[in-house]
Amino acid sequence: MEITEVRIFPKEGLNNKLRAYATITIENAFVVRNIKVIEGKNGLFVAMPSRRMKDSCPKCGHKNEVRSKFCNECSASIPAKAPVAATPEAQHDARQSEHKDIAHPITVECRERIQRKVLDAYEAEKGKPKSI
Ligand SMILES: [Zn+2]
Repeated sequence: MEITEVRIFPKEGLNNKLRAYATITIENAFVVRNIKVIEGKNGLFVAMPSRRMKDSCPKCGHKNEVRSKFCNECSASIPAKAPVAATPEAQHDARQSEHKDIAHPITVECRERIQRKVLDAYEAEKGKPKSI
């Protein structure tokens, strides 16, 4: 599998952790959008496109953001599914479980190849003089 094109859309300033969105093209034939370049504790890393999970209202079935207290549609109260996690690690896990990857590599080699390509392109994009 070859990544034939990487396009970088910098997001500096909007959110201090999200640095850019990337779009990759595989084999000149398959495009994956909304890959994120994120500034982590140990440097930049690449996150695969994901969507937020939703919880259905028990009364009307309206899909609300995870952990909403009340339904946006009928204002019924939504019982909490799990107690709020106590440790930072558990809270991080809870946040992660609210997101599901839409497309992602299943081997470490492939993930690293995509990450290297995207980060190289990001660094190259950052090095360019800003157009006014
Ligand atoms: Zn409802």
